[in-house]
Amino acid sequence: MAESINITSLNKEILAGSKVALAKGITLIESNKAEHRAMADELINSILPYSGKSLRIGITGVPGVGKSTFIEALGLDLIEKHNKKVAVLAIDPSSSISGGSILGDKTRMNILSQKQEAFIRPSPSRGFLGGVANHTRESIVLCEAAGFEYVLVETVGVGQSEIAVASMVDVFVLLMLPGAGDELQGIKRGIMEMADIVIINKAEGALLDKAKEAAKNYQMALHFFPEKNNKWITRVVLASALKREGIDKTISTLEKFRTENTDNGSIQTTRIHQNLSSFNQFVQGMVGLVIQEQKALFELKNELESKIKIGEINPYDAASILVNKLKAIIKIT
Ligand code: GDP
Repeated sequence: MAESINITSLNKEILAGSKVALAKGITLIESNKAEHRAMADELINSILPYSGKSLRIGITGVPGVGKSTFIEALGLDLIEKHNKKVAVLAIDPSSSISGGSILGDKTRMNILSQKQEAFIRPSPSRGFLGGVANHTRESIVLCEAAGFEYVLVETVGVGQSEIAVASMVDVFVLLMLPGAGDELQGIKRGIMEMADIVIINKAEGALLDKAKEAAKNYQMALHFFPEKNNKWITRVVLASALKREGIDKTISTLEKFRTENTDNGSIQTTRIHQNLSSFNQFVQGMVGLVIQEQKALFELKNELESKIKIGEINPYDAASILVNKLKAIIKIT
């Protein structure tokens, strides 16, 4: 990337809907270089007033359940039948471990990616989960400013990434396979509880009866979950992404969610909470960095960690000692 980027013109191009500029902006956000970070901050701050207008949708489910097929079907319907613009972002925490990206390896969403009204961004290939999640949060903001009315954030079903996605979307969609019962297909109960819409995918042909049964089972299981703050009752939808069936129903359920939760203010409240929690994460992360950077604090931290390991001190006391040292350095009592 060129070292000098004109943020004012990048901002203008993004607002004008340029996908090239949008991609460039996201690359800037994902960069680990300090000078890029400063430019990314400038860009995001200048873009923020134009963001917030999309429906932010998280989509998860185990590998093979049909996420990319489903997202393609959903994206195509939104574009072709509803005249909308759709952005797809992906979170793939495995990429930080393997160095490569599962999601980036295969050709995905071929037809959707060729649409002028679609923007597809594979998962960032660097960084730790927290970093990736924060980048994605900022990428959503850029997509909205570029006029994308639906932002789909996809994740592979590996536990932690769903929590990260839930912290940045308005509505959480869980894809399941027909033939439930098998320990809810490795999806943890907590993830089930987070779902606002459960899609039973591959509900066609010989699998249709099984899918209907699965829908009934989930509907029953959902009764035992705690009531959501926004009072939304999780809906179960049968779909065949391959045959592009059940997509209309998915869209109408998404719109019902949007209307109800905009009217009662809970989408706005959730977004405020998400911003506050992301602010708090940043504060913790940045204070952690200060400790890493200050030799005296860093050494004390290592020493305390060794003592915790051998049971010589409890974690609370250790944290107090470290924070007191920090206070002493910045001269507050
Ligand atoms: P992902 O790993 O969750 O992204 O799943 P993919 O979208 O890559 O789909 C995995 C496999 O399931 C592929 O072979 C798809 O063609 C197939 N698949 C996806 N949706 C359906 C569906 O609705 N019905 C059937 N029969 N197969 C599907």
